[in-house]
Amino acid sequence: MALKLGLVGIGKIARDQHIPALAADPRFELVATASRNARVDGVACFASVEAMLAEVPELDAISICTPPQAHFEAAVAGLRAGKHVMLEKPPAATTRQIALLQAEAAQQGRTLFQTWHSRFAAGVDAARDWLRGRTLTGGTITWKEDVHHWHPGQQWIFDAGGLGVFDPGINALSVLTEVLAEDAVVHKAVLEFPENQQAPIAAQLDLRTPTGVSVQAAFDFRQKGEQTWDIELLTTTGSLRLSQGGGVLEIDGRPVAADAALAGEYPRLYARFAELCAMGRSEVDWRPFQLVADAFLVGERRIVAPHQV
Ligand code: NAP
Repeated sequence: MALKLGLVGIGKIARDQHIPALAADPRFELVATASRNARVDGVACFASVEAMLAEVPELDAISICTPPQAHFEAAVAGLRAGKHVMLEKPPAATTRQIALLQAEAAQQGRTLFQTWHSRFAAGVDAARDWLRGRTLTGGTITWKEDVHHWHPGQQWIFDAGGLGVFDPGINALSVLTEVLAEDAVVHKAVLEFPENQQAPIAAQLDLRTPTGVSVQAAFDFRQKGEQTWDIELLTTTGSLRLSQGGGVLEIDGRPVAADAALAGEYPRLYARFAELCAMGRSEVDWRPFQLVADAFLVGERRIVAPHQV
């Protein structure tokens, strides 16, 4: 029997990825939505999560794709109503919220799938496998995109808790934490805040492994022309390059995987969610979010030109 699912926060990612992925997956049936303004044809629509949970008690699961500032309350409501919960990235507004959600899922005996869609990109598994047993000597991350093109009108990204350029940048950190054999920590960071906004428009991170190997990350929302979502990692026995957000992998210049940015990621996310629900397990890894929080903790703050959304 298909899992009856309620989708929370009907915006760009819900329409571009979640709804098509759900429509193509017989393990799910989209039966309701909760969104303050938006509606989806052919589905029962509610203005709040609480109303949806009260009116559609047969729901098995909810999937939350609001901005991170609204994740915690929706996820708590879902878990306390006995539903499995899938959470978009970034997982929450604060690190403590994720810890509490994990504990709540365990207490309720429900699945919490705290997703990182970029980890499901075509090249990531092969990159992780290739790096095992190799010695890292350095790396660079270049994550530069035009915020006006990819996030039109989304003021929440620049509000407090919206993470600014870390909204895409955390995708790179989710891939890095997945593929590296040894965790890196934030050694230094510089965050560039537009003078009229609460979240950074650009950031540079100096990440270091415990043995001092450096991975330099440059995130920028002001990129015009070519858009770049690349990770390059060097080892004593060769190098790899992940581009297109993880969809394309080259090892020592030879192609290993080739897919467009975001291609196949959401169908694979929902397949994993179905598996986790069937197994009665949760999957939570907040290391990428901790790196972002740490960049805010130790980062040097620079004020730059104002930015209009
Ligand atoms: P979006 O277009 O702004 O849609 C989010 C929707 O959530 C809004 O349309 C809004 O619908 C609802 N919402 C509920 N509480 C809100 C609040 N406090 N502030 C603003 N909207 C609120 O954003 P999105 O691009 O879909 O991104 C949503 C999440 O998906 C983010 O966490 C983002 O990182 C993630 N994501 C986005 C992309 C992408 O390419 N855009 C890719 C991967 C992941 P109502 O007004 O109807 O309530």
